[in-house]
Amino acid sequence: MESMSVPTAGPLVDTFGRVASDLRVSVTDRCNLRCTYCMPAEGLPWMAKPEMLDDDEMVRLIRLFVALGIDQVRFTGGEPLLRRSLIDVVRRVGELPNRPRMALTTNGIGLDRLAQPLADAGLDRINVSLDTVSSQRFIELTRRDRFADVERGLKAAADAGLTPVKVNAVAMPGEDPSDLLAWCLDRGYELRFIEQMPLDAQHSWDRSTMMSRQDLLDALGARFRLSPVEQRGSAPAERFYVNGGPATVGVIASVTAPFCGACDRVRLTADGQVRNCLFARDENDLRGPMRAGASDEELADLIRLNMWGKAPGHGIGTPNFQQPDRPMSAIGG
Ligand code: SAM
Ligand code: SF4
Repeated sequence: MESMSVPTAGPLVDTFGRVASDLRVSVTDRCNLRCTYCMPAEGLPWMAKPEMLDDDEMVRLIRLFVALGIDQVRFTGGEPLLRRSLIDVVRRVGELPNRPRMALTTNGIGLDRLAQPLADAGLDRINVSLDTVSSQRFIELTRRDRFADVERGLKAAADAGLTPVKVNAVAMPGEDPSDLLAWCLDRGYELRFIEQMPLDAQHSWDRSTMMSRQDLLDALGARFRLSPVEQRGSAPAERFYVNGGPATVGVIASVTAPFCGACDRVRLTADGQVRNCLFARDENDLRGPMRAGASDEELADLIRLNMWGKAPGHGIGTPNFQQPDRPMSAIGG
């Protein structure tokens, strides 16, 4: 890097030369599940409506990010399907110049109704989060009896052509991951496991009880033949052919084999803060300046400033690691 001052033009870079191309937008912090690794049984104090970006503000900021080189936008939350205007936001982002690819991460509840309208609005891809295929275990993990809704949502996503439908699972101890893989293979869903991270509001994460990449591979390998897929690029998932392919399974080892050096992500929270990392301790407020009349250039400068401060890695496991103040559900997973 020639100069160490914040760039005033060009793509969104940090001081380590990484370039952001993938924007995660949290459209709400509210949720209708209470996954134990994410939030407490009683839920969280939700953001007040006036604190949240309205549709015009959200679309304006996404337009700025796209002008700064973002080519993929993923809507998340909280549970993004709880934002009533989601379909409108997707449609409007799809109409932007240099239209980004658009993806959604959802728990799948309500997707039976919304998959087709989302596809019609221009959504390109979908990830549905599901950690178990036992409806009893689903209740224990999410504290809600909604397994059948998720099952219907997944089917509706496939019927709407949002294929390949991807399933994201947090690897949970006590769960045989090969049951979920068998279930997804039967239905043509592409499964990716992720290691549990210290992002829960209750701060109860414990590395010693976490199911690691190696635990996962051992358990899956006992039932399926796995062989590595080459060409990982900047994608966080390490992929394996199952029984020779073409079906694959992915493992995202965020904790035991972090991929921060190749990170291309930046995040926008539902209350208009830009964050350069899930684990960032700082964020930059875009909502306040925007409501005070900031120009596009001024907002773009704030986004660049935030990216410039991106740390080399999340530091989980290092002595100075501190969990971020916001839980995953308020950052946007
Ligand atoms: N509610 C939506 C959902 O569950 O897909 C979107 C938001 S959720 C925070 C996004 C993803 O983060 C989900 O796949 C969820 O399983 C994952 N997640 C939540 N807490 C996590 C944690 N502590 N470690 C790893 N992944 C987590
Ligand atoms: Fe809700 Fe998603 Fe968190 Fe589960 S992981 S409580 S579905 S935000």
